[in-house]
Amino acid sequence: MSDYSQRFLFDDTDIRGEIVQLEASYQGVVADHQYPSAVARLLGEFLSASVLLGSTIKFDGRLVLQARGDGELNVVVAECRHDGSIRGIARLGETVDGQDFAALLGEGTLVMTVEPAVGKSYQSLVPLTGGSLAACLEYYFQQSEQLMTKIWLSADNHRAGGLLLQQLPRQLVMDPEARVRQWEHAVILADTTRPEELLDLAAETLLQRLYAAEPIRVQSPSPVVFSCSCSVTRTANALVLLGKDEVDSLFTEMPEVVMGCEFCGKDYRFTRASLAEVLLAGEVPH
Ligand SMILES: [Zn+2]
Repeated sequence: MSDYSQRFLFDDTDIRGEIVQLEASYQGVVADHQYPSAVARLLGEFLSASVLLGSTIKFDGRLVLQARGDGELNVVVAECRHDGSIRGIARLGETVDGQDFAALLGEGTLVMTVEPAVGKSYQSLVPLTGGSLAACLEYYFQQSEQLMTKIWLSADNHRAGGLLLQQLPRQLVMDPEARVRQWEHAVILADTTRPEELLDLAAETLLQRLYAAEPIRVQSPSPVVFSCSCSVTRTANALVLLGKDEVDSLFTEMPEVVMGCEFCGKDYRFTRASLAEVLLAGEVPH
């Protein structure tokens, strides 16, 4: 399997880990966009991070990471749904030749949204800081939760990958000093991972290399695929958001309005009548 996330647990410690590797799904996201190489790699890191963080969501829903700064990119978005499907996009400014996180994104905000299929979504905001997406996310966990979390991300133009370690609430180990010792030990070993190992080594091989002396349990991998969540109803609703006057004038100018999905490139075509039909159908309770 080339696209998957895989959880592992250390026996006798309250630490969990997650590994993600993306290839076809990452290629699917960047295909047809002609992103500069550094932008594609940054998007690869966002996609990997969305899977690592999304892997903790147990309900039907999605996790979205969105960065907006004053750098060369207007926005970067990556989304992972609970079924392992991902999508993402980078919107470029006028000139893009930056090679790293700081130049591409500048100063701004990273927004993490967790959106259940039913119920209220919640958002967390964190400044674009520390010179990498991993540093931003670690800062978020430091600020907002008591769970120690470390993230390593990597991407070339073919593959993207990542590793997450997270301390779990006290359950097996009660001694605070032992908890700190175990956590630091796990992190020091994970810190020896080279970026290319996150891309080249299968999860089990990497874990064997890092934690040969530790008893760990590796769960079975979950597949990750590129799949867009756009739909005719969502697109119709987005069209309506332009306002009644604007929509009226569009249909006066042309018989058919085409709305393209910027994530997957799919075109949705509406006539005045078909738009009304979709909106009406959308109002019927399931
Ligand atoms: Zn789409």
